[in-house]
Amino acid sequence: VTLPPWLDEPAKQLLNARGNARMPHALLLHEAPGAGGEMLATYAAQLLLCTGPVPACGQCRSCLRVARNEHPDYRLIVPDPELKLGQISVDQVRDLAGQLALSSHEGLGTCVMISPAHALNRFAANALLKTLEEPRPGVLMILLTTSPSLLPATLRSRCLRLRVAAPGRDAALDWLETQRPGRENWSAALDVLGVAPLEALGQDLDQLRDIRAGALEVLRDAGQGRIDVVRTAARWAQGDLALRLRCIENCLTGLVLQPPAEVRRGREVRAGAQLQSSGFDINIPVALALVDGVRELQRLLATSVNKPLALERYLWQLNRAGLAGRTAAG
Ligand SMILES: [Zn+2]
Repeated sequence: VTLPPWLDEPAKQLLNARGNARMPHALLLHEAPGAGGEMLATYAAQLLLCTGPVPACGQCRSCLRVARNEHPDYRLIVPDPELKLGQISVDQVRDLAGQLALSSHEGLGTCVMISPAHALNRFAANALLKTLEEPRPGVLMILLTTSPSLLPATLRSRCLRLRVAAPGRDAALDWLETQRPGRENWSAALDVLGVAPLEALGQDLDQLRDIRAGALEVLRDAGQGRIDVVRTAARWAQGDLALRLRCIENCLTGLVLQPPAEVRRGREVRAGAQLQSSGFDINIPVALALVDGVRELQRLLATSVNKPLALERYLWQLNRAGLAGRTAAG
């Protein structure tokens, strides 16, 4: 199996564990969004179930069936579509426990992936804890999540934890380029999504490019304090709002994390990594307040709050910040 280079290290740890016959019975994969946690989970399942000459060969029938999610000893548990909140239910976990009590079909073991593990509701997490407290030999349970803190501590403590960190931006772009050429498109995609290469792979790149252009336009207008708040809010509320806000968040975060030299000397600036030539003047404390603001807005929008109104409030905050930046710079 060929994994993206940034997964080499965690993959090696799993390979060594298998070589020393010390595979954990429960693995908590803490994944940065879109960093490839699912690929690593698939690799772990292949390590367990592979019948080829080298572990997780990627070529044998078992490896191929795992990759296609067709292996009878590989179970994927995802949120129950019947449940509104996108939760994994206690019934799903009980079903699973029943099946684990039987022996595996092909005799090499059984691998279960729960994704995302933070979707387990309270009852499901309790039921799973019981299963983990009495581990069965040959069963590998993989909990994949971007937010381990949302899992009960009792559950976390039963698992070996492995971090799947996001690659650097250049490494992500290099890898995406090997999947499909078009560096400029990939770069725009990462501006919107953050460094989430696996997520970028499945997206409509034209759409992301438009979203990026729209977000930069809003930031440029903010620099003059002249966003047309009501119109922008109404337009954004109609579609792609989550991605638009994510793009704003990533642009501002980029500015804070990689400030141009003038900012490091404590002066007002024009341009961050993604904001070059956008004319958005801002200092770091203000940028941080705007990052907080957009995160708070994203949380609010997940509830049933009045979307245009909440959005308008944030756009006003952007306008004010831009004006403040100009005054300070002038
Ligand atoms: Zn194989």
